Formats: sequence, C-alpha cells, structure tokens
Amino acid sequence: MSDAGRSDPYPMTGADSPFDLTGRVALVTGSSRGIGRSLAEGLGGAGAIVVLNGRDEVSLVRARDELVDAGVTVHVAAFDVTRPEAVTEAVAGIEADVGPIDVLLNNAGIQRRAPLLDVDLDAFREVLDANLTSAFLVGQAVARHMADRGRGRIVNVCSVLTSLARPGTAPYAVSKGGLAQLTRAMCAELGPLGIGVNAIAPGYIVTEMTAPLVDDPEFSAWITNRTPAGRWGRVDELQGATVFLASDAAGFVNGQVLYVDGGMTAVL
Ligand code: NAP
Repeated sequence: MSDAGRSDPYPMTGADSPFDLTGRVALVTGSSRGIGRSLAEGLGGAGAIVVLNGRDEVSLVRARDELVDAGVTVHVAAFDVTRPEAVTEAVAGIEADVGPIDVLLNNAGIQRRAPLLDVDLDAFREVLDANLTSAFLVGQAVARHMADRGRGRIVNVCSVLTSLARPGTAPYAVSKGGLAQLTRAMCAELGPLGIGVNAIAPGYIVTEMTAPLVDDPEFSAWITNRTPAGRWGRVDELQGATVFLASDAAGFVNGQVLYVDGGMTAVL
C-alpha cells in the first residue's frame, strides 16, 4: 500500500500552495455587485483570471474597473443566466476568447419576498428560473467543456434558506433547497468525470438584495439575536470558503454544502 500522506510541508501560500489559483479561468455569474463581485475579487486575489457576469453592462464595466484597480485580471460577459441560448453562446465565447473555464461560481440570484398566499405563479417561476434553473443551464454548459478536459470545480451559492424557511420566502427557499440537491446530483454524475461540485450557504449578508432587511430595525435585531456571531455578515467573509472550494485544496471535497452563516443554522 502506498503512503497516502505528504512528507513535505503543506504550503498555505505561494505557487505550490493547493489554494493557489494562478492562471485558472473563473466564471462568476451575477458578479456586477454584492456577493458575486466580492467572490470574484477573492478568486482574483488567489490568482484567478476572472470573468464577470450580469445583465446590466454599465454595472459590469464599473465592477471590472474596480477589480482591475485591485490588481485582478478581469473579463466581462454580459448575459442572462436564465436564457438557454444566451448561456450556450456566452460559455462558448469565454472558452474561445479567455480560455478553458476551470472554475464556475453559480452565484446569480434574485429574491421576491411576499406572503405565500399572495405569491403569483409568474413570481414563483421567475425566482426558480433565476436561482435554480440558471445553475443547471450554466453548470451543464460549462461542465460539458470541463468533462472533455477531465477537470474543473463548480461552486453553487445556496443560502441558510436551503435548509430552513421563513415567512415570505417560499419561492426563494424552494429554489435554494433545489440548488443543494442540484449540487449533489451534479456531484454524482460529474465527480467520476473529474469535476468537483460543492456549495456555500451564506447567512444574512449586507448587500443590495438584503438592503430592505438591513434598514428594518426589527428584522436587524432578530438577525443579531438569532446569529451566534451577533451581527450581519460581510461579503468578504465568504471569500475564504469559496477560494477553498474552488481550489485543489478541496480536491477530495465533493457534493457538500458549506454554511458560512455566523453559526445561524447550528442553533435554535
Ligand atoms: P445582489 O446584490 O442583488 O446581486 C445579484 C447579482 O446577480 C447582480 O450582479 C445581478 O446583476 C445578477 N443577476 C440577477 N439576475 C441575473 C440574471 N438573470 N442573469 C445574470 N445575472 C443576474 O444579490 P446578492 O445579495 O449579492 O446575492 C448573490 C447570491 O447570493 C444570490 O444567489 C443570493 O440568493 C445569494 N445569497 C445572498 C445572501 C444575502 O444575505 N445577501 C444570503 C444567502 C445567499 P443584474 O441585475 O445586472 O443582472
């Protein structure tokens, strides 16, 4: 039996580190602002060549300029992750113009808060399309290329509402629960092809999506009381877990949902 251990030191930084992403191409959907923009910056900081995505070109160009100023190599690909033809075309374009996609972050998402009895079917479908079907579409398009190469890492962005629910969040909670199952289903079929598929599940993070909740003193007080960390999370606090899951350091981690939530889902 061969020795499975490492006798040499395990470098945590530098080109020999398993966390290093130098030269890897990373597509981050929904990265013109908020969590996606921060995760793109984190991957870029670990050395990745980042491709930003969103629908609004003006916000994308602004995010690109900010990341370039931060020293990241950045490309942009404006497309709607819910449109199958646009996804296929964009992924082929990135592969041809930027390079083989090594890392995919399925981060794009929306929230439509409303009481269950008032949610109409269009809103329900809109959330499922943006949060779940999008990850299937982009994941499938990218994984087809990764499968040919026998390598790749995919990280889906779930939520504490992957495993819990709150009033007013039915479509969102369904979409994020489905995304965890998509993560496992992708792992089952893509793992044997050399592709790692995992998810992060952020707690409550201050972004444009949560701005109405941050501004609501009653809700904010509930967050600080409900979260062992005693506060809202920041977008940069998701970078470490994401770089880990996107890197060779997570080479034997597959099909997992990693909660980055200040402890919220660990306690009642
Ligand atoms: P955000 O600030 O609203 O940003 C959403 C991003 O997704 C934007 O770049 C937006 O750009 C893009 N996007 C939305 N629909 C798209 C589409 N159809 N095609 C392409 N891009 C699209 O939201 P966030 O708070 O950063 O959330 C990002 C992800 O984290 C979401 O999946 C969300 O569910 C998840 N999450 C957030 C929290 C939180 O507390 N904030 C917690 C857990 C999980 P355009 O509008 O220009 O397309």
